[in-house]
Amino acid sequence: MDKIYIRNLEFIGYHGVFEEEKKLGQKFLISLELDTELREAGIEDNIEKTIHYGYVAKTIEKVFFSKKYDLIESLGEDIAREVLKNYKYIEKIKLEIKKPWAPVGIILEDVSIVIERKWNTVYLSLGSNMGNKKENLEKAIFNISQLADTYVTKKSEIIETEPFGYKEQDVFLNACIEIKTLLYPKELLYKLLEIEKNMGRERKIKWGPRIIDLDIIFYNKEIIEEEDLIVPHPYMEYRDFVLKPLEEIKPYFVHPLLNKRISTLRKELENNETKI
Ligand code: AMP
Repeated sequence: MDKIYIRNLEFIGYHGVFEEEKKLGQKFLISLELDTELREAGIEDNIEKTIHYGYVAKTIEKVFFSKKYDLIESLGEDIAREVLKNYKYIEKIKLEIKKPWAPVGIILEDVSIVIERKWNTVYLSLGSNMGNKKENLEKAIFNISQLADTYVTKKSEIIETEPFGYKEQDVFLNACIEIKTLLYPKELLYKLLEIEKNMGRERKIKWGPRIIDLDIIFYNKEIIEEEDLIVPHPYMEYRDFVLKPLEEIKPYFVHPLLNKRISTLRKELENNETKI
């Protein structure tokens, strides 16, 4: 990935946890490493195809003076978010904020934080088999699109499928969506659980009827094995109601553990008995 650097933007600001930092002010130095593709801009000699670093610097200035932060960690989060949301060609940002005059009582060169933030591509599976199922799916997609720092970038068709596990229930409607988000995996999971809850989801029977079910299928190519979050979703390769809509929006995505494309997994499932 190509990079653009902006080094040591200098500001006098009033951030800090101590009263005197908020009153007297001190020097802050902000540096950025921006991941982006520069090839097209370079070939075409076209500013429209790259990031105007003057504008980026102005965005940082605006956030910097928007309020008095206690923590440079918090200032860093806000700068990273604003830059990523305002400049579509930036995929990832590495940001350093230095406080050379940090009131430590000992001579030092500086104190600094470094954070890296990026857009994440996530695939979600949605299902509903209670009430107005189509409306439930659409409402869930709308609610996801309203999450902070999250955009819905692709939607599959809605398909009808037979229930799995507990058979004595109505047929399901299912869909898959692609989102781009700045949320971390657990943050996203908790937001999805909140959406499920707000839409009236109750957990009575495992694999039983539900107004809405939202699952994280892939989070970039990451492998997560925590108690309350397993990614890639552990049953996705056995479920045609996940693979079919996913194949529609991302047929060539390679499963990071099985090392096979979605379209291959779907073909294999068609020839296999092990469906969950
Ligand atoms: P269910 O709604 O029946 O699919 O179960 C939801 C629970 O599964 C949540 O409370 C999560 O903690 C857990 N879980 C584990 N991995 C995932 C995942 N990839 N996506 C969504 N929920 C997950």
